[in-house]
Amino acid sequence: MTARPRKLRTAVLGAAALLALALVVFIDTFRASPLPEPPPLTEPLPTARPPAEMAVFRLPTGITHRSAAFAYRGGSFRDKRNFAMTAVLVRHPRGDVLVDTGFGRDIDRQFQAMPVWFRAATSYARTSSAADQLDRAGYDRKALRAILLTHAHWDHVSGLPDFSGTPVWVTPEEHAFIRDGGWITSLARSFDDVRYEEYRFEGGAYLGFSRSHDVYGDGAIVVVPAPGHTPGSVIVFLTLANGKRYALLGDLVWQREGVLEREERPWLQRVLADKDASEVRGGLLRVAAIAKRLPELTLVPAHDARGFAEMPTLARAP
Ligand SMILES: [Zn+2]
Ligand SMILES: [Zn+2]
Repeated sequence: MTARPRKLRTAVLGAAALLALALVVFIDTFRASPLPEPPPLTEPLPTARPPAEMAVFRLPTGITHRSAAFAYRGGSFRDKRNFAMTAVLVRHPRGDVLVDTGFGRDIDRQFQAMPVWFRAATSYARTSSAADQLDRAGYDRKALRAILLTHAHWDHVSGLPDFSGTPVWVTPEEHAFIRDGGWITSLARSFDDVRYEEYRFEGGAYLGFSRSHDVYGDGAIVVVPAPGHTPGSVIVFLTLANGKRYALLGDLVWQREGVLEREERPWLQRVLADKDASEVRGGLLRVAAIAKRLPELTLVPAHDARGFAEMPTLARAP
Protein backbone atom coordinates (compact mmCIF):
# COMPACT_ATOMS: atom_id res chain seq x y z
CA MET A 1 0.00 0.00 0.00
CA THR A 2 1.31 3.46 -0.88
CA ALA A 3 1.57 6.25 1.71
CA ARG A 4 -1.37 8.27 0.35
CA PRO A 5 -4.20 5.70 0.65
CA ARG A 6 -2.82 4.76 4.09
CA LYS A 7 -3.03 8.39 5.22
CA LEU A 8 -6.55 8.66 3.85
CA ARG A 9 -7.57 5.47 5.65
CA THR A 10 -6.15 6.76 8.92
CA ALA A 11 -7.99 10.09 8.50
CA VAL A 12 -11.30 8.34 7.75
CA LEU A 13 -10.90 6.00 10.73
CA GLY A 14 -10.00 8.96 12.97
CA ALA A 15 -13.07 10.91 11.86
CA ALA A 16 -15.32 7.86 12.38
CA ALA A 17 -13.90 7.35 15.89
CA LEU A 18 -14.50 11.02 16.74
CA LEU A 19 -18.07 10.82 15.42
CA ALA A 20 -18.74 7.67 17.44
CA LEU A 21 -17.35 9.35 20.56
CA ALA A 22 -19.52 12.44 20.00
CA LEU A 23 -22.55 10.17 19.59
CA VAL A 24 -21.78 8.33 22.84
CA VAL A 25 -21.35 11.66 24.68
CA PHE A 26 -24.62 12.96 23.16
CA ILE A 27 -26.62 9.84 24.07
CA ASP A 28 -25.22 10.14 27.59
CA THR A 29 -26.94 13.54 27.96
CA PHE A 30 -30.29 11.68 28.00
CA ARG A 31 -29.22 9.36 30.84
CA ALA A 32 -30.82 9.80 34.28
CA SER A 33 -28.82 12.17 36.45
CA PRO A 34 -30.90 13.31 39.47
CA LEU A 35 -30.03 16.71 40.91
CA PRO A 36 -29.03 16.70 44.59
CA GLU A 37 -31.92 16.80 47.04
CA PRO A 38 -32.67 20.39 48.11
CA PRO A 39 -32.78 21.44 51.79
CA PRO A 40 -36.26 20.91 53.27
CA LEU A 41 -38.77 23.73 53.23
CA THR A 42 -39.15 24.98 56.79
CA GLU A 43 -41.22 28.16 56.48
CA PRO A 44 -44.88 27.97 57.57
CA LEU A 45 -47.48 27.19 54.92
CA PRO A 46 -49.10 30.32 53.49
CA THR A 47 -52.61 31.06 54.63
CA ALA A 48 -55.42 31.54 52.14
CA ARG A 49 -59.04 32.66 52.33
CA PRO A 50 -60.33 31.65 48.90
CA PRO A 51 -64.00 32.37 48.19
CA ALA A 52 -66.31 29.35 48.14
CA GLU A 53 -67.35 30.17 44.53
CA MET A 54 -63.81 29.79 43.23
CA ALA A 55 -63.38 26.91 40.76
CA VAL A 56 -60.75 25.63 38.33
CA PHE A 57 -61.40 24.07 34.90
CA ARG A 58 -59.14 22.62 32.24
CA LEU A 59 -59.55 23.56 28.59
CA PRO A 60 -57.55 21.04 26.53
CA THR A 61 -56.82 22.48 23.09
CA GLY A 62 -54.57 19.82 21.56
CA ILE A 63 -51.37 17.84 21.92
CA THR A 64 -47.88 17.55 20.53
CA HIS A 65 -46.39 14.09 20.02
CA ARG A 66 -43.21 13.63 22.07
CA SER A 67 -41.43 10.98 24.10
CA ALA A 68 -40.45 10.94 27.77
CA ALA A 69 -36.78 11.09 26.71
CA PHE A 70 -37.44 14.52 25.22
CA ALA A 71 -38.96 15.81 28.49
CA TYR A 72 -36.53 14.82 31.26
CA ARG A 73 -33.22 13.03 31.75
CA GLY A 74 -33.83 9.34 32.28
CA GLY A 75 -37.08 9.30 30.27
CA SER A 76 -37.37 6.51 27.72
CA PHE A 77 -37.45 7.06 23.94
CA ARG A 78 -40.03 4.27 23.77
CA ASP A 79 -42.28 6.01 26.31
CA LYS A 80 -44.47 8.07 23.95
CA ARG A 81 -46.05 11.04 25.69
CA ASN A 82 -48.70 13.29 24.26
CA PHE A 83 -47.78 16.73 25.56
CA ALA A 84 -50.93 18.52 26.73
CA MET A 85 -51.66 21.96 25.26
CA THR A 86 -54.17 23.07 27.84
CA ALA A 87 -55.47 26.37 29.16
CA VAL A 88 -56.84 26.70 32.70
CA LEU A 89 -59.89 28.76 33.60
CA VAL A 90 -59.89 30.01 37.20
CA ARG A 91 -63.31 31.28 38.21
CA HIS A 92 -63.20 33.87 40.97
CA PRO A 93 -65.98 36.24 42.09
CA ARG A 94 -63.68 39.24 41.62
CA GLY A 95 -62.90 38.26 38.01
CA ASP A 96 -61.96 35.06 36.21
CA VAL A 97 -58.42 34.43 35.03
CA LEU A 98 -57.38 32.27 32.08
CA VAL A 99 -53.90 30.86 32.61
CA ASP A 100 -52.25 30.46 29.16
CA THR A 101 -54.32 29.82 26.04
CA GLY A 102 -53.06 26.57 24.50
CA PHE A 103 -53.67 26.31 20.74
CA GLY A 104 -55.91 29.08 19.43
CA ARG A 105 -58.32 29.09 16.50
CA ASP A 106 -55.55 30.10 14.11
CA ILE A 107 -52.88 27.57 15.19
CA ASP A 108 -52.46 25.93 11.75
CA ARG A 109 -51.56 29.20 10.05
CA GLN A 110 -49.45 30.33 13.03
CA PHE A 111 -47.47 27.07 12.95
CA GLN A 112 -46.59 27.60 9.30
CA ALA A 113 -44.75 30.79 10.31
CA MET A 114 -42.45 28.90 12.70
CA PRO A 115 -38.87 28.05 11.60
CA VAL A 116 -38.62 25.09 9.23
CA TRP A 117 -36.41 23.00 11.58
CA PHE A 118 -38.94 23.53 14.40
CA ARG A 119 -41.82 22.41 12.19
CA ALA A 120 -39.84 19.35 11.10
CA ALA A 121 -39.29 18.37 14.77
CA THR A 122 -42.86 19.09 15.93
CA SER A 123 -46.03 17.18 15.19
CA TYR A 124 -49.25 18.36 16.77
CA ALA A 125 -52.97 17.67 16.78
CA ARG A 126 -55.55 20.30 17.64
CA THR A 127 -58.88 19.70 19.28
CA SER A 128 -60.88 22.81 20.17
CA SER A 129 -59.58 26.25 21.12
CA ALA A 130 -60.18 27.67 24.60
CA ALA A 131 -62.33 30.44 23.05
CA ASP A 132 -64.56 27.90 21.26
CA GLN A 133 -64.92 25.79 24.42
CA LEU A 134 -65.94 28.85 26.45
CA ASP A 135 -68.40 29.94 23.75
CA ARG A 136 -69.94 26.47 23.56
CA ALA A 137 -70.39 26.41 27.33
CA GLY A 138 -72.25 29.74 27.13
CA TYR A 139 -69.51 31.47 29.11
CA ASP A 140 -69.99 35.22 29.56
CA ARG A 141 -66.74 36.87 28.47
CA LYS A 142 -67.51 39.82 30.74
CA ALA A 143 -66.55 37.57 33.67
CA LEU A 144 -63.00 37.19 32.30
CA ARG A 145 -60.73 39.72 34.01
CA ALA A 146 -57.46 38.75 32.28
CA ILE A 147 -55.26 36.14 30.66
CA LEU A 148 -52.24 35.33 32.82
CA LEU A 149 -49.27 33.93 30.87
CA THR A 150 -46.85 31.47 32.49
CA HIS A 151 -44.56 32.58 29.64
CA ALA A 152 -44.77 33.77 26.04
CA HIS A 153 -43.82 30.72 23.94
CA TRP A 154 -45.98 29.90 20.89
CA ASP A 155 -47.97 27.06 22.48
CA HIS A 156 -49.02 29.27 25.43
CA VAL A 157 -49.96 32.44 23.52
CA SER A 158 -51.50 31.01 20.33
CA GLY A 159 -55.05 31.80 21.46
CA LEU A 160 -54.45 35.45 22.47
CA PRO A 161 -56.04 36.86 19.26
CA ASP A 162 -59.24 34.95 20.15
CA PHE A 163 -59.59 37.15 23.24
CA SER A 164 -59.20 40.58 21.74
CA GLY A 165 -59.89 43.23 24.38
CA THR A 166 -59.03 40.99 27.35
CA PRO A 167 -55.93 42.28 29.20
CA VAL A 168 -52.91 39.97 29.22
CA TRP A 169 -50.91 39.94 32.45
CA VAL A 170 -47.14 39.58 32.06
CA THR A 171 -44.04 40.39 34.09
CA PRO A 172 -41.92 43.29 32.75
CA GLU A 173 -39.18 40.73 31.94
CA GLU A 174 -41.52 38.61 29.82
CA HIS A 175 -42.97 41.68 28.14
CA ALA A 176 -39.43 42.68 27.10
CA PHE A 177 -38.81 39.10 25.92
CA ILE A 178 -41.89 39.32 23.69
CA ARG A 179 -40.43 42.46 22.13
CA ASP A 180 -36.87 41.18 21.57
CA GLY A 181 -36.76 37.42 22.20
CA GLY A 182 -35.95 36.37 18.62
CA TRP A 183 -37.81 33.61 16.78
CA ILE A 184 -38.97 31.94 20.00
CA THR A 185 -41.37 34.80 20.79
CA SER A 186 -42.07 35.77 17.17
CA LEU A 187 -45.65 34.50 17.38
CA ALA A 188 -46.50 36.67 20.41
CA ARG A 189 -44.75 39.59 18.71
CA SER A 190 -46.88 39.15 15.59
CA PHE A 191 -50.13 39.96 17.43
CA ASP A 192 -50.83 43.67 17.10
CA ASP A 193 -53.90 44.26 19.23
CA VAL A 194 -52.97 42.53 22.50
CA ARG A 195 -53.29 44.73 25.59
CA TYR A 196 -50.48 43.76 27.94
CA GLU A 197 -50.65 44.78 31.59
CA GLU A 198 -47.42 44.39 33.55
CA TYR A 199 -47.52 43.27 37.17
CA ARG A 200 -44.81 43.12 39.78
CA PHE A 201 -43.99 40.88 42.72
CA GLU A 202 -44.87 43.26 45.52
CA GLY A 203 -45.61 40.49 48.02
CA GLY A 204 -43.24 38.65 50.33
CA ALA A 205 -41.80 35.15 50.36
CA TYR A 206 -44.07 32.28 49.32
CA LEU A 207 -43.20 28.60 49.70
CA GLY A 208 -39.47 29.20 49.32
CA PHE A 209 -39.76 31.80 46.55
CA SER A 210 -38.52 35.17 47.74
CA ARG A 211 -41.26 37.29 46.14
CA SER A 212 -44.88 36.84 45.15
CA HIS A 213 -47.93 38.51 43.61
CA ASP A 214 -51.25 37.72 45.28
CA VAL A 215 -53.75 38.55 42.53
CA TYR A 216 -56.81 39.24 44.71
CA GLY A 217 -55.13 39.49 48.12
CA ASP A 218 -56.91 36.38 49.40
CA GLY A 219 -54.22 33.78 48.71
CA ALA A 220 -56.40 32.09 46.07
CA ILE A 221 -54.19 32.92 43.05
CA VAL A 222 -50.54 33.58 43.90
CA VAL A 223 -47.88 34.09 41.23
CA VAL A 224 -44.15 33.69 41.90
CA PRO A 225 -41.19 34.39 39.60
CA ALA A 226 -39.56 31.25 38.16
CA PRO A 227 -37.23 32.61 35.46
CA GLY A 228 -34.90 30.52 33.34
CA HIS A 229 -37.04 28.82 30.70
CA THR A 230 -37.79 32.41 29.68
CA PRO A 231 -36.69 35.58 31.52
CA GLY A 232 -40.17 36.26 32.92
CA SER A 233 -41.56 32.73 33.45
CA VAL A 234 -43.82 32.31 36.47
CA ILE A 235 -45.51 29.64 38.56
CA VAL A 236 -49.17 30.10 39.52
CA PHE A 237 -50.34 28.61 42.82
CA LEU A 238 -54.09 28.05 43.15
CA THR A 239 -55.79 27.33 46.47
CA LEU A 240 -59.49 26.44 46.56
CA ALA A 241 -61.89 26.81 49.46
CA ASN A 242 -62.03 23.02 49.92
CA GLY A 243 -58.26 23.02 50.48
CA LYS A 244 -57.33 21.64 47.04
CA ARG A 245 -54.07 23.16 45.79
CA TYR A 246 -52.53 23.28 42.33
CA ALA A 247 -49.14 24.53 41.17
CA LEU A 248 -49.28 25.55 37.51
CA LEU A 249 -45.60 25.18 36.71
CA GLY A 250 -45.56 26.47 33.12
CA ASP A 251 -42.57 24.93 31.33
CA LEU A 252 -40.28 24.81 34.38
CA VAL A 253 -40.48 21.08 33.67
CA TRP A 254 -42.40 19.42 30.85
CA GLN A 255 -43.46 16.32 32.79
CA ARG A 256 -43.91 15.64 36.50
CA GLU A 257 -40.84 13.42 36.69
CA GLY A 258 -38.77 16.57 36.24
CA VAL A 259 -39.75 17.57 39.78
CA LEU A 260 -40.41 14.19 41.39
CA GLU A 261 -37.17 12.63 40.12
CA ARG A 262 -35.31 15.97 40.09
CA GLU A 263 -34.34 15.48 36.45
CA GLU A 264 -33.78 18.49 34.25
CA ARG A 265 -34.38 18.52 30.51
CA PRO A 266 -31.75 16.72 28.42
CA TRP A 267 -28.88 18.91 27.17
CA LEU A 268 -30.25 19.48 23.65
CA GLN A 269 -33.67 20.56 24.96
CA ARG A 270 -32.04 22.87 27.50
CA VAL A 271 -29.99 24.48 24.75
CA LEU A 272 -32.96 24.87 22.41
CA ALA A 273 -35.73 25.75 24.86
CA ASP A 274 -34.23 27.37 27.96
CA LYS A 275 -32.85 30.88 28.25
CA ASP A 276 -30.90 30.07 31.43
CA ALA A 277 -30.73 26.40 32.40
CA SER A 278 -29.10 27.07 35.79
CA GLU A 279 -32.04 29.29 36.80
CA VAL A 280 -34.44 26.53 35.69
CA ARG A 281 -32.49 24.11 37.89
CA GLY A 282 -32.91 26.43 40.90
CA GLY A 283 -36.67 26.69 40.35
CA LEU A 284 -36.98 22.95 39.83
CA LEU A 285 -35.28 22.23 43.17
CA ARG A 286 -37.46 24.78 44.95
CA VAL A 287 -40.58 23.04 43.61
CA ALA A 288 -39.10 19.64 44.54
CA ALA A 289 -38.81 20.89 48.15
CA ILE A 290 -42.44 22.13 48.04
CA ALA A 291 -43.66 18.78 46.63
CA LYS A 292 -41.97 16.97 49.49
CA ARG A 293 -43.48 19.26 52.11
CA LEU A 294 -46.92 19.34 50.49
CA PRO A 295 -47.50 15.94 48.86
CA GLU A 296 -51.20 16.78 48.42
CA LEU A 297 -50.31 19.70 46.10
CA THR A 298 -51.18 18.80 42.49
CA LEU A 299 -48.18 19.53 40.26
CA VAL A 300 -49.31 20.74 36.85
CA PRO A 301 -46.46 21.13 34.36
CA ALA A 302 -47.98 22.92 31.36
CA HIS A 303 -47.59 19.86 29.11
CA ASP A 304 -48.37 16.99 31.50
CA ALA A 305 -51.91 15.66 31.07
CA ARG A 306 -51.78 13.94 34.48
CA GLY A 307 -51.92 17.25 36.36
CA PHE A 308 -54.84 18.56 34.30
CA ALA A 309 -56.72 15.28 34.74
CA GLU A 310 -57.48 16.36 38.34
CA MET A 311 -59.43 19.40 37.09
CA PRO A 312 -62.96 19.14 35.70
CA THR A 313 -63.61 20.18 32.11
CA LEU A 314 -65.89 23.12 31.53
CA ALA A 315 -68.49 20.95 29.84
CA ARG A 316 -68.96 19.10 33.11
CA ALA A 317 -69.32 22.31 35.10
CA PRO A 318 -72.62 22.70 36.98
ZN1 LIG B 1 -42.02 27.11 26.82
ZN1 LIG C 1 -44.72 25.03 26.40
